[in-house]
Amino acid sequence: MADVDRTKLAALLASERRTFAEARPQSRAAATEGAEHLIGGVPMTWMAKWAGGFPMYLAAARGSRVTDLDGHTYIDFALGDTGAMAGHSPAPTVAAIRRQVEEVGGVTAMLPTPDAAWVAAELTRRFGVPRWSFALTATDANRWALRLARLITGRPLVACFSYSYHGTVDETFAVLATDGSTVARVGNVAPAVPPAQTTRAMEWNQLDTVEAALADGQVAVLITEPALTNIGIVLPEPGFLDGLREICDRTGTLLLIDETHTLSAGPGGCTQAWGLRPDIVTLGKSFAGGIPIGAYGLSAEVAGRLQERVDATDADLIDVGGVGGTLAGNALSLAAARATLDEVLTDESFVGMIDLATRFTAGVQATLDRHDLEWSVSQLGARSEYRFARPAPRTGTGSAEAHDDDIEEYLHLALANRGILITPFHNMALMAPSTTADDVDRHTAAFAEVVAAIC
Ligand code: PMP
Repeated sequence: MADVDRTKLAALLASERRTFAEARPQSRAAATEGAEHLIGGVPMTWMAKWAGGFPMYLAAARGSRVTDLDGHTYIDFALGDTGAMAGHSPAPTVAAIRRQVEEVGGVTAMLPTPDAAWVAAELTRRFGVPRWSFALTATDANRWALRLARLITGRPLVACFSYSYHGTVDETFAVLATDGSTVARVGNVAPAVPPAQTTRAMEWNQLDTVEAALADGQVAVLITEPALTNIGIVLPEPGFLDGLREICDRTGTLLLIDETHTLSAGPGGCTQAWGLRPDIVTLGKSFAGGIPIGAYGLSAEVAGRLQERVDATDADLIDVGGVGGTLAGNALSLAAARATLDEVLTDESFVGMIDLATRFTAGVQATLDRHDLEWSVSQLGARSEYRFARPAPRTGTGSAEAHDDDIEEYLHLALANRGILITPFHNMALMAPSTTADDVDRHTAAFAEVVAAIC
């Protein structure tokens, strides 16, 4: 097995940084201006995460193309880290947004529109759970679902996997320490309480850690993605998800499947593709074509139990009980979601997107094979991601250990300098309905070139 040549890597990283900066004076000037009044110099602090010292500033985006202020056009495989999975400004979504804003009028009037029932019925068809409510982000969908799970079960705790990510949800910034205790994830900003007070952390693909977390019946809900996607893609081993369901059933713990990223597996995410039986499904980011939305869906049984608990207690689901947002369920989000689900992220669209991700993955694998590199590439439907470990890590902790800042920065910059964007927090590429085979082949060629240069 071969490793990269660190001397070559250091020299090429320096030269890609120079190329990046020299070719983007307008973005650099915008970043300098932004530094004056913006925390972290950017509108949202994670935008500082792009490789290169300053982000490219957006001038235009359509379909799978993004153009920056300096006039460089990129093939966009980052797609807003899934927020733009439908492609940028897909025509049916844009038409629905225009209709809502210009003809119907009313972005947010605190009154329902019929689009909500249509979207809820469509999500039911895709994910199987029949009762839905809407948020503006996946974070909020998760936060509110955890609260409801505590109400329904009367239990205090949440269980999550080490190095999972579910948005800025306090309970989930926890990892399993080697002594079996639950501790704060490194870097978590000022947790309100030590995470062991709210959370039991577990290790992905290790059912004994799940058994240990749920055995005493204190956990209300196990929240998980059906495959980890926020620490590279870490797929479930055969039997693991069945094991989760069985342990949850046996211990009376609710199973929440967060499909925000794993919608890539198909029109109903992994839930439909793999025949999962979640009690709660959460979603966000993509399904309104980039307009803010989130959703959570409950099984019939859980929805019934929720109603019973609301009737039996003074839980305030309507006003200031801790579930809700003024703009949630607004007319614009739901008009955009209806058009996106009906006409863009359709059942048929996923067939082509998944084929392209298979082509992308094969292209990456061919380069890894050529150099016998100790890296791996994993695919989950329409998304593909490479990781600097072989075989592919099987736990969140293992995948976290495979991180390599220098290789990652080099690849991101070298690809950006060749007109290709992959997701900044990852080495992730996502296919949109607008992605083409030629786009994928251009990545394959650029990846082969930039990897060969450091071998
Ligand atoms: N769930 C998952 C699985 C996610 O990956 C993310 C964000 N990356 C979220 C929830 C939160 O999404 P948002 O930041 O849009 O609230």
